[in-house]
Amino acid sequence: MKIDGMIGLFTKIINNPLSKVVLKNTLSKENGEVKLERWLKAYAEGEEIKSIEFNAIKKIIKAGLKAFGGDEEELKERLRDAYWRKGFISVIRGLVYFGVRKPFVAGSPFLVVWDLTYSCNLKCKHCYATAGKPWRDELNSQEALKALDVLADAGVTAIAFSGGEPLMRRDFFKIASKANEYGIFVSIATNGTLLTKENVKRLKECGVGFVQVSLDGDKEHHEMFRGVEGVFERVVDGIKNTINEGIMTCISTTATKLNYNAVFKAMDLAEELGVEWFMLFNYIPTGRGGFEIDLSAEEREILLKELWRRLNSTSVNFMSTAPYYARIAVQQKSDVMPTHFYNANLNGMYLAEFIGGCGAGRFYIAMKANGDIQPCVFFPLKLANVKEFSNGNDFLEFWKSNKILNELRDKDSIEVCGECKYKYVCGGCRARAYAYFKDYKKPDVGCLIAKRMLRRV
Ligand code: SF4
Ligand code: SF4
Repeated sequence: MKIDGMIGLFTKIINNPLSKVVLKNTLSKENGEVKLERWLKAYAEGEEIKSIEFNAIKKIIKAGLKAFGGDEEELKERLRDAYWRKGFISVIRGLVYFGVRKPFVAGSPFLVVWDLTYSCNLKCKHCYATAGKPWRDELNSQEALKALDVLADAGVTAIAFSGGEPLMRRDFFKIASKANEYGIFVSIATNGTLLTKENVKRLKECGVGFVQVSLDGDKEHHEMFRGVEGVFERVVDGIKNTINEGIMTCISTTATKLNYNAVFKAMDLAEELGVEWFMLFNYIPTGRGGFEIDLSAEEREILLKELWRRLNSTSVNFMSTAPYYARIAVQQKSDVMPTHFYNANLNGMYLAEFIGGCGAGRFYIAMKANGDIQPCVFFPLKLANVKEFSNGNDFLEFWKSNKILNELRDKDSIEVCGECKYKYVCGGCRARAYAYFKDYKKPDVGCLIAKRMLRRV
């Protein structure tokens, strides 16, 4: 059977009312644990259990593997890992809430980027958070731990603590440890200046698995952006410390007109230092960052093509938050598709259309230091506040039914992008549309194809 036929069959299995009832039941809790967790552990270990639910799950996994490709033994191996089980439960919850749709919507966010504080020891020109001093209404320790309870209860797979500078918060290690105890994958986005050997050891001890360090290029550009002399060497030392401690390390560079040529130097440095990841941030004019330093669509395309070339010729995972990066991969007829957060193995265009594109409201959401929730860190539109939720169910209800999130999930109704053949693979950056037009359904003028399509209108 062809892949589209397999997906059709998989869709039928999922949409069958009986399957839906069974799947919904597996998401209920027994002794404080989601039942599906138990079935996935058993499946991963090759146990045989006489249960309708367990057999239904096995059947759905088999149909899913046939439709989207994948190796059963490899999946079992992955499901022995708690993070993967969390992610898988979120996939099943997504199928129950939203069905099989393009692009796919997870049943609870795979990733929450949480600006823990706006306190910062630097004053970067392009800071999306206009950070410096902490806000008066930032969540205190008790409130932050309560927010964590809610997110864990909702089945969030990963949290990236950002800011400001998250390490400026005295209770950072306490909050990160608690997240880790919940089985959540913990990462941190930092300016790198506080990554001393001692701090990095503590990060490792409290289970931080990924450290993303901002770097704007060479010394000249980095210090011009960050406004502090000598900071470049401190950051490079910090990167070396995290690599030496064996924590997955990522250099992240935000490309603007001010550092365009230096971005290539940052890429070189990532290769030289041997970090595992390099993340090219798609600059969005928001916070302290103005419109005049935004790249043209042509400049962005050149950078992304260079990123793609390096991804395929070096050992560094060269990735980008720009959704058109996935479009470039598909245009190159690649077997892998770099999304915001990982490099997905593809089964042609089919899988790309399910997982690709802007993650805001699909598998990702952002939280500000005061608990305000917005679609993305670059998208200053308040949807709720975490303090409104007393448990995970409240949060899940919000995730499922929020009007704006549902509009963001609908790629067909976006102006211009909705007519593009890459709408499900990419869909444009909704934060950029919001920044330029104060309307997230408008086109993303940062993309070359959108620009050409607009000229034709
Ligand atoms: S036109 Fe829109 S959907 Fe198409 S590639 Fe560009 S940003 Fe993506
Ligand atoms: S709006 Fe979407 S594409 Fe843009 S930065 Fe946020 S998650 Fe990425």
